[in-house]
Amino acid sequence: MSIYLDAKYRDVPQEEKQALFDEVTSDMRWETTLYGCYECGICVAACPSARFYDFSPRVFAQIMNREDIDTFYELLNDSVWDCSQCFACTRCPRQNNPGAIITIMREVAVRHGLQSAKNALKAYSRIIYKIMSTGTQVAPDMLQPDFFPDWGPDVVRVSENLDVWRRAIPPETMHTVELAWDVSEKTRLELYLIWKLTGNLQMIENLDENLFMILEEVMEELLEEHGYNIDDIDMIDTDE
Ligand code: SF4
Ligand code: SF4
Repeated sequence: MSIYLDAKYRDVPQEEKQALFDEVTSDMRWETTLYGCYECGICVAACPSARFYDFSPRVFAQIMNREDIDTFYELLNDSVWDCSQCFACTRCPRQNNPGAIITIMREVAVRHGLQSAKNALKAYSRIIYKIMSTGTQVAPDMLQPDFFPDWGPDVVRVSENLDVWRRAIPPETMHTVELAWDVSEKTRLELYLIWKLTGNLQMIENLDENLFMILEEVMEELLEEHGYNIDDIDMIDTDE
C-alpha cells in the first residue's frame, strides 16, 4: 500500500506496477545505485529540489529498498520530474545514488509512454526539435524581452543589437542568432544516427508522435541527400 493517503493510482493493476518496478531493478546500472539506507537525511539536506517541492531523495532510496510497489508507482508518475539531476545526493554515506535511481525511473516512464511523462516533457518539444535538427538548443533570438521581463533593461539592449553582439564573439561558429552556434551537417547527421540507432527516437515517438514525424521527415531527407539508404539503417537490430 502506498505511503500517500491521497494515492492516485489504486486502480492500476498490480502486475503493471510490478512489471515497471522489475524493469527499473533489472537495469544494468541498478546494482550501483542502492545499498540500503540509514535514513540519515543527508541526501535531503543536499538536494536543491527538496527545498522547493514536496520531494525527497530519501523516499526514493527507502521505497526502492523496501520494494514498495505502490509508492514506487506514485513516485514514477508524480515525483521523478521534480529532480534536477544535479547528483548532490551522491554524498550519501551509504554510497547510494538517488539521482541515478531517478534517471532509470525516468527512462522507464518514457519508454512506456506514461501520460505523466508526456505531460512533464511537453514543454521541451521545441528544444528537442532544435537539438535534433540543428545540433544546438536554445537560440539567442529566442531570448526576447517579452519572455524574460525579469532580466531587466540589459536583455532589451542586447536583443536590439543581437547581430552585432554575436559577431563580436571570437569563434565564427557563434556568428549566428538563430542557433546557439553552427553545427556542421556531418555532425548533425552523425548525432541523428546515434539517436536513431540507440532507440532515442523511439522514445520520442512514445512521447510525442507529431514531433517524431516532423523530425523524421526533416532529418531523413538530409540523410538521403548525403547518400544514406534509410531502409538499410532501419534494418539494424538495436536489441542485439
Ligand atoms: S540528483 Fe535529484 S535527488 Fe539528487 S540531489 Fe539532485 S535534485 Fe536531489
Ligand atoms: S543520505 Fe543515503 S543513507 Fe542517508 S537518507 Fe539519503 S539515501 Fe539514505
